[in-house]
Amino acid sequence: MDSFYIWNIGCQMNKADSERLASALEQLGLRSVEEPHDADVIVLNSCVVRQSAEDKVVGALGAMRPLKKQRTGRVVALMGCMVGPRTDGLQRRFPYVDVFMRPQQYGPLLDLVGQRLGLDWECCVGSLAPAKPSVACYVPIIHGCDLMCTFCIIPYRRGRQVSRPLNEVVQEVELLAQRGVKEVTLLGQTVDAYGCDLPEQPGLGDLLARLNDIPGLDRIRFLTSHPSFMSQPIIQAVADLPKVCEHINLPVQAGDDEVLSRMRRPYTQAKYRDLIARIRDTVPGVSLSTDIIVGFPGETAEQFQHSLELLADLRFEKVHCAAYSPRPGTIAFRTMADDIPLEEKVRRREQVEQLQESLLREINASLVGQDVEILVEGYNKGRWQGRTRTNKLVFFKDEGYHLGQLANVEITQASPWSLQGTPAARGCLPLAG
Ligand code: SF4
Repeated sequence: MDSFYIWNIGCQMNKADSERLASALEQLGLRSVEEPHDADVIVLNSCVVRQSAEDKVVGALGAMRPLKKQRTGRVVALMGCMVGPRTDGLQRRFPYVDVFMRPQQYGPLLDLVGQRLGLDWECCVGSLAPAKPSVACYVPIIHGCDLMCTFCIIPYRRGRQVSRPLNEVVQEVELLAQRGVKEVTLLGQTVDAYGCDLPEQPGLGDLLARLNDIPGLDRIRFLTSHPSFMSQPIIQAVADLPKVCEHINLPVQAGDDEVLSRMRRPYTQAKYRDLIARIRDTVPGVSLSTDIIVGFPGETAEQFQHSLELLADLRFEKVHCAAYSPRPGTIAFRTMADDIPLEEKVRRREQVEQLQESLLREINASLVGQDVEILVEGYNKGRWQGRTRTNKLVFFKDEGYHLGQLANVEITQASPWSLQGTPAARGCLPLAG
């Protein structure tokens, strides 16, 4: 047994979980391969936040049956949000899967691999930080969620909120910076609630201040916030700390108070608007994004219009729009009829996308002619690519750059989805650290 392959779907937290499992398997001496048929250990890291994601996982699981037969001793593992506290149903459906693991519970697979290799994995595996990370890396800082939004399956799968100790996160980010990471994105389902379950109750603002002092690190982001926890110290930290990027994702989910109440989102649209205004007052040039669900049970045409009005008024830089998808086990699934026809949900989602496209066309056009700082994150088809501090994707052509560099780029063309630029007067910014 010497190779592994991880298939991943879903949110940034899943990507981070996959990276951390890969780190553990590499520490046990296994190597990552590009194709599942070359691997001794195949892991599917699953997502069930929407039916479409779950369908893809089921399809990927179906492809495992012949792969399992092809190689004696091959291990197939299912990880992530498809795995709940009880696995008997999954075991009956997918008898060829050897290991079922809830999110971040790597132990069952490491036990099995350790047995096959004759190793005690707990003696071999240290920090799960990726050994060869990308220049921009995810760092989970808080697991689970204590809220029970009626549409959401995540608390049932990822459990209650648990923050990682502040010093542990700081040490991990120091290690990542030593390994060449220039940007970290701190992850949590409610990342702005960080620390309230820890004995000293540090806040996200305290953590950001500590990370801001780490040599070699250029940028810090955090994702995903909840309006109820977005405190003034956090907003002030974004305004004051030079490495913290001026970008906040703040899911609103609906622009109508009655729908928000049925979603169990503990704020009104007026309070949300006030919060956005306060963030914009405190952090000049901040870029804001949001998540919204259309077609939630009982959402009337008028209530949907309130969501559209909120989006038009607040002019977000990005909107993640999802058509409501009933998730078995959630409060909405158990207590509310999924009464908006699929065609209507799709029509509403398209309306949101059209509105957002026209807003972004205007917002991005206003950037043409401006110089922006980008972190060079990749090279594809003869162009460098990276993101601005405000999380906008920029492409530019020039030979004299390298991954991880901060570059000063003049924006020359804009579309709703990305920007094109050219290095501003050979404007490389000095490398930090
Ligand atoms: S805050 Fe709500 S939507 Fe977000 S993970 Fe928790 S329950 Fe789900």
